[in-house]
Amino acid sequence: QRKPFVAGNWKMNGSDELVEAFSSKLASNQAVDIVICPPAVYLSKFSQAAFAIGAQNVSEFASGAHTGEVSLSMIAEAGCKYVILGHSERREAYYESNEVVARKVKAAIAAGLTPILCIGEPLEVRESGQVFDFVKAQLDAVAHECGAHYVKNSVIAYEPIWAIGTGKTASPEQAQEVHAFIRKELAALDVSAAASVRILYGGSVNAANAKELFAKIDIDGGLIGGASLKVEDFTTICQAA
Ligand code: 13P
Repeated sequence: QRKPFVAGNWKMNGSDELVEAFSSKLASNQAVDIVICPPAVYLSKFSQAAFAIGAQNVSEFASGAHTGEVSLSMIAEAGCKYVILGHSERREAYYESNEVVARKVKAAIAAGLTPILCIGEPLEVRESGQVFDFVKAQLDAVAHECGAHYVKNSVIAYEPIWAIGTGKTASPEQAQEVHAFIRKELAALDVSAAASVRILYGGSVNAANAKELFAKIDIDGGLIGGASLKVEDFTTICQAA
């Protein structure tokens, strides 16, 4: 009953040429929610696109002395419906804590945008068998800041850090196990919202492995990095959902 959802995270890649290629070639698909998340400067260039767009990050503040930042009202004016929050690259390289991410989720929902909330463990946590505790702490921080209502207003992306950009995807079974855990945790906040929230898998998804990942009961689509930079590959992934 959950509509599949596939989002492309271009990260710091792209150009006017790539925007043009996606605008003209990526078709809409009634069966899947399709979202492209380009660097912020390209957002408004997608105003005629057949798919939705999202930002990759946003400031937690409304306006003012925050050099280099972009606000929620700005990305909304640029046409965004979604915003990726808490991507592991921002958590690691830009020191975004669970609390910062939680405040951004709260601000995004208040502004009428849907967060694509990213969670997921590093390799050492997986190897020490602490995956559930780690992911639970990430979710608990958001619940603490936002309350239960974030569940019905968000999309969740499980991205194990060891699978991002490494070509080493989680097996469908490994991903399903964590997705089921996430849904169970969210059900403790809101049973019906947890049943309908889309939980995406991200980490080395490509045109060849998407179908078996998306076939799992709690995997409702994907958050795609490298393979979202080619229209043909991304289209194949959307069709697999
Ligand atoms: P890759 O698909 O390149 O592994 O990246 C995943 C990701 O981080 C999407 O947000």
